[in-house]
Amino acid sequence: MKIRVGVNGYGTIGKRVALAVMKQDDMELVGVVKKSYDYSLYQAKALGLKIFAPKEEDYKLLESKGVRVEGTLKDLLGKVDVIVDATPEGVGLQYKSLYETFKVRQVYQGGEKPEVADLSFNSLCNYNEAIGKRSVRVVSCNTTGLLRIICAINRHFEVNKVRAVIVRRAADPKEVKRGPINSVELNPPKIPSHHAIDVKTVIPNLDIITVAVVVPTTLMHVHHVTLRLSKSVTREDIVSILDSTPRIMLVNSDKSGITGTAGIIEAARDLRLRYDVPELVVFEDSIYVDNNEVMLFQAIHQESIVTPENIDAIRAITGLEKDPLNSIDKTDSSLGLTKRLW
Ligand code: NAD
Repeated sequence: MKIRVGVNGYGTIGKRVALAVMKQDDMELVGVVKKSYDYSLYQAKALGLKIFAPKEEDYKLLESKGVRVEGTLKDLLGKVDVIVDATPEGVGLQYKSLYETFKVRQVYQGGEKPEVADLSFNSLCNYNEAIGKRSVRVVSCNTTGLLRIICAINRHFEVNKVRAVIVRRAADPKEVKRGPINSVELNPPKIPSHHAIDVKTVIPNLDIITVAVVVPTTLMHVHHVTLRLSKSVTREDIVSILDSTPRIMLVNSDKSGITGTAGIIEAARDLRLRYDVPELVVFEDSIYVDNNEVMLFQAIHQESIVTPENIDAIRAITGLEKDPLNSIDKTDSSLGLTKRLW
């Protein structure tokens, strides 16, 4: 039997998760909840999605614009096993008691506070802990990127300490009201940034400090990460680990000519749907190893990196799949994640 899924909030994350759910043979997308009226409703219709409105008044507004609306969020909640909440930061918490009333399991996003859910989630780090939970929170895009690299290496060599500089994109491409800007902003001006605290919601005892700046770009985030391991390793060890870990893509500048985020996005524009890059991209030439210290640069496509994690989260909380690597494999092959862009 397929798990019935609803998506509340059809924006940057919600539309990607909805499409990803449609591609799973063990899930059924029952419908999506859309609050505002824009072109994406026509795309949703073309995809055959059933549209629901948050409340009666939103329902009336959408119908007055000629949109066929199946009902309200409450109607959708009566038909699903899992709701993926992809509403703006803090709105998910406001919906929590309604979700609980309808006894549906919940997947929240990283803009919510950790307390919204029973567990903060990352597929490579703590899939097993999520099995059977009523609710999980898929951590933010930057935290997902940090956790992927830490847990990939930690599976082979214990990671004792992490220091990371996070260069954040100022806004998503569609968020025109947040720009233009012309500055490198300390974000926040104090050390550490909240990202280290967020990583600790998944790996509580890790010694990690992060700092962050925001720069005038919309394409991707970039991290410079330094990991101290409990023993010495070679560069070949690290390249081989990253090369064999799912959801991590090595990009070699000699072979690709790519030396930054514009090159990644241009290659993805040529090769991919929506130019999404849900893989964590590690710049292979930047990997530097000195005894037990590993340094590298990595890039995160903020709009899509959490899509596969949402799919695994649904499998974990419903107990559909007990083995994290099986779920990761199933998700990645259905969504076309690869180890190389070409
Ligand atoms: P978004 O603004 O693109 O989409 C949110 C959608 O929810 C919009 O379509 C909006 O109309 C709708 N909405 C607003 N109020 C609503 C309500 N009361 N009920 C139902 N729908 C409502 O936002 P987003 O970027 O998709 O972010 C969603 C969540 O994902 C946030 O927690 C965010 O922090 C997190 N996240 C965002 C990114 C990113 O880069 N965009 C990356 C990772 C995680």
